Amino acid sequence: MKVTRTVKIPIHHETTKKKISHQDNLTARLTYAVREWYKIIDENELENKSDCSPYESEVQEKTKLSAGFVQQARDKALWTREQDKESHKEWERKLEKAKEGTKWYKKLKEREPSKPFTSKRSKQKKIPVRFDYRTGSLEEADLALTDSVIRISTLKKGERIVILLNPGEYHKKKLKKADKICSFELVHHPERGCKYMVHVTYEYDIKTRSVDWIRGVDLGVLRGLASVKLPWTRKNFSIRKTDKLAEIKELNDRIAHSRRLEKYEALKKLRKRRSNLTKDYDRKLAKEFAEHTDGEIVIVGDPQEIRYRKFKGNGDKIGRKVLQNWTFGRLGYQIVEKCRERGTISIRFNEWNTSNRSYCCGEKVKSTGRRVECTNCGQNYDREFNSCVRILQTQQEFSRKILRSSEFFQNSERKASSYLENKSSEALERSQKLAGATDELARTMDDSGLEPWMSMEAHTLGCG
Ligand SMILES: [Zn+2]
Repeated sequence: MKVTRTVKIPIHHETTKKKISHQDNLTARLTYAVREWYKIIDENELENKSDCSPYESEVQEKTKLSAGFVQQARDKALWTREQDKESHKEWERKLEKAKEGTKWYKKLKEREPSKPFTSKRSKQKKIPVRFDYRTGSLEEADLALTDSVIRISTLKKGERIVILLNPGEYHKKKLKKADKICSFELVHHPERGCKYMVHVTYEYDIKTRSVDWIRGVDLGVLRGLASVKLPWTRKNFSIRKTDKLAEIKELNDRIAHSRRLEKYEALKKLRKRRSNLTKDYDRKLAKEFAEHTDGEIVIVGDPQEIRYRKFKGNGDKIGRKVLQNWTFGRLGYQIVEKCRERGTISIRFNEWNTSNRSYCCGEKVKSTGRRVECTNCGQNYDREFNSCVRILQTQQEFSRKILRSSEFFQNSERKASSYLENKSSEALERSQKLAGATDELARTMDDSGLEPWMSMEAHTLGCG
């Protein structure tokens, strides 16, 4: 399968003022072009590149940019528009489901996604545009200062300038793996010392592994990362613990202490540390987890909406507190990406309410600390075990198809990767609808004609 990655390389610190000003001018003009495009696209409800072509000369006239740049700015605007539409649709879907007059409804109303490029902060920001073969290239160079440079077009026709980069060993190692450099962005980073960075997007191929197992992953607050693979027996259930929670708690105490003493300088440093700490834990955990997934398909239930639901004033103060600094989204994303890097197939889907129901009957569960009890049949299970199995159940159809085609995976790598790309986008699409559908699915489990490997021990096992 194809893996796409980005590295961020700073430009060389000895770049001359003149060249920096070239970059300043160019990025400012490109930002202007993207904004112009966005206005046109939004007003005329344009959908794709060909819809846009009648307006191309108009933008070119206004911005005095070359055709290549104008098209790249257009692509950025189209992409932004697409993202905006998606998030708006998602918001409308939620609003439709919410009951009018409730607190939740009111909160949702307030959260209507704003139009891109309109907030005060984003108005001051530069919008990066992807450079490709038309407007620039990443090249190796044999210079005293550096061995890699980018060559980009400027505002003057036919003129190109060379900008020196300052890649570290890390960047070089990454780029060596690349089969293809797709594009790069020149990104304004005023908060860093170097002012500009080049974000290089590259692609490489990795052999898709054959599949023997399916694993469902539940991201929990207290116990880290729990997962179960089929058949869901106790032996196949594992939990990966971290000290993240304890360390965050310690840090939070220190922050609270400094706040009381009004030590603002110390506070600034601590804030940075807290975010670095969680990032570091997530990355390590994902990497470690991915290393043990060979021959498996990994399905991550990602409670994307959980924080969104636990808004201030919903009455669940403790629940909200526990979730502070918790980063399910990032952890889920990292797991999927790290698995991909190893050639393991992995998807993430929106899990909401899956852990409130038992996997045996699909009925509500009563929580008894670490364990949950089914309100229908009275069976009790380990809490994380139950959610992991539920995740597998809700993605049953998907997993079953993949297992059936595992032979096909071993034979044809290319077919497999395109098959999967379709599948995972389907799964993502479904994930948006899943919030309402899970209960339905669970209730019909028994009539659904489960295959033996799916139902094996499912009804007899109380794990833990
Ligand atoms: Zn039950």
